[in-house]
Amino acid sequence: MSYFQTAKCGLCGKAFYPTSEHVYKQDEKRFCSWSCLCAYRRNKEERRKRPGARIKNKERDIELAKFYKESGLTMKKVAELRNMSVYAVHEAIVRGRKYLEEEAK
Ligand SMILES: [Zn+2]
Repeated sequence: MSYFQTAKCGLCGKAFYPTSEHVYKQDEKRFCSWSCLCAYRRNKEERRKRPGARIKNKERDIELAKFYKESGLTMKKVAELRNMSVYAVHEAIVRGRKYLEEEAK
């Protein structure tokens, strides 16, 4: 790897020059600073703990399921557009469909 190759911070998106002993990394992401790494870990913790997250995501799941159906795009393409993983999109669409079925009853 070139010495001058930049990496992008996994949190703030800032380009920086990682050294060979770069330590601010987690989940295969690298961070420009200790504070960005800490913030990333904190966000992750909070996302996991937040009890209302599931309910909050309901609207998004429904919207995603509708979008997937109406757009005719592949899940991979939807994932790219939404900046989500294909797995997350698949899960969201499955949940979204379930919600829609429940509402139709
Ligand atoms: Zn950063």
